Amino acid sequence: MSIIIDESRFLSAIKEVKKCTACGKCCYNKDIYLTLDEFERIKEKTGLKPREFATLKQNPFVPSIYMIRLKNKPSGACIFLDEETNKCKIHDIKPLQCKTYPVLFIPEAQYEKKGAWLYFTCETGDAVFKVKAKDFKNLVEMRQISLMIDYAKIMTEIERIKREFEE
Ligand code: SF4
Ligand code: SF4
Repeated sequence: MSIIIDESRFLSAIKEVKKCTACGKCCYNKDIYLTLDEFERIKEKTGLKPREFATLKQNPFVPSIYMIRLKNKPSGACIFLDEETNKCKIHDIKPLQCKTYPVLFIPEAQYEKKGAWLYFTCETGDAVFKVKAKDFKNLVEMRQISLMIDYAKIMTEIERIKREFEE
């Protein structure tokens, strides 16, 4: 299974300015969508069945497009959040959407712009990250392209994926 995007390019562009307190709040009530590679990686490393950690959803606007979304527990916590320690149980293989939070995730209105840098605060405002404006533009473009390619990959393998969700 090929990795479409170079994750290290995303991650090295993002600098932590103010340290995350590991309060865990950003792992509640989120829509975390997986690329096909992330889905396969989580399946392989955790040994879980797809329906135990994810749901397969049709895009409400384009029903031919399917998206794989991480499940949340009744509390709203992500299925992989340890609610006692606030630690991610799949930290080493967590989706790019989590690795790049809050950059590439929160609405533009929450950006703080200073010169050539863009500053992003998480939802509690405790953690702050910065990324160069030009890197951010590249990251958004790369992410959009990778998502488009990934939607296509999911579509080509959709019958197998549907069967796996029924197991
Ligand atoms: S990024 Fe913010 S909300 Fe998430 S765990 Fe860190 S401090 Fe809490
Ligand atoms: S995968 Fe990990 S980091 Fe991402 S939302 Fe779930 S618990 Fe949080």
